[in-house]
Amino acid sequence: MKNKITTLAALMTLRELKGNSTLGKASRKLYAKDNNNFDNNRNSSYSPNPSLPNMPERIPNLNPNSPLIPMQNLNGENHYPFKLLPLPYLANSLEPYIDTTTMEIHHGKHVLEYVQNLNAALKDYPEYHSWSLEKLLYNVSKLPKDIQTPVINNGGGVFNHNLYFNILTKGGKSLKQGSPLSMAIDSKFGSLNNLKAELKAAGLAQFGSGWSWLVSNKNGDLSVMRTANQNTLIEKNLTPVLNIDVWEHAYYLLYQNLRKDYIDSFFKVLNWESAERNYAKYKEIDYSKL
Ligand code: MN
Repeated sequence: MKNKITTLAALMTLRELKGNSTLGKASRKLYAKDNNNFDNNRNSSYSPNPSLPNMPERIPNLNPNSPLIPMQNLNGENHYPFKLLPLPYLANSLEPYIDTTTMEIHHGKHVLEYVQNLNAALKDYPEYHSWSLEKLLYNVSKLPKDIQTPVINNGGGVFNHNLYFNILTKGGKSLKQGSPLSMAIDSKFGSLNNLKAELKAAGLAQFGSGWSWLVSNKNGDLSVMRTANQNTLIEKNLTPVLNIDVWEHAYYLLYQNLRKDYIDSFFKVLNWESAERNYAKYKEIDYSKL
């Protein structure tokens, strides 16, 4: 049934795209049927969590009556029980590059499931209820054996998506010429276009599900890397600057098998100002000291 609904929503969305009519109608129907609980939890209050990378001060232009954002209140704390962070923009903001239905399902279903599974894994281990997400991921080998894999998969899923959703914005924002990140990119990759090509190649080279990353070491030296599944680079103690979700759930409704086209579109909505703020933390972020 779930597959049927998703397929139907995908077809309806594609039809709407072709017909150039109002986007998101199909996904609103899907949510009305399938996900009423999100609508009941909608609230525009927002407290930024300073321990997560680059959380915005507030959700810009949030319309509390919009049917588009599934979200819960944020408690402003980074420990068990973890919450689904709200999207920092409306779910239709990244159109036409990333479609509304994909954003709603991606955030409101896939990431919510990671949050719920992470909490379920930690439920019976109160000694870890005060640990931050980053501390759990860096110290995963110290956790009881039976929750190590659930924490890697679901905790990693939460961390990766918190970063991903926060480096995207409506219409994208350019990299400032002469900024520390811009200079580091030029020095390592020669040009911004070369970096984009490397990020794209890493995303395409990742067989199956995973992520393409721009990360920094403690000296500010940049690297492009890729990870499988929901693995993070926290265990290597690298500071994430930006990441590209190359799981099919991030693009399949609109792009089907064309991961390369989705990656090109990703750059159209990439917020380089967010990436600059993440890069600025390369010295201070040290997961080994949590
Ligand atoms: Mn994803």
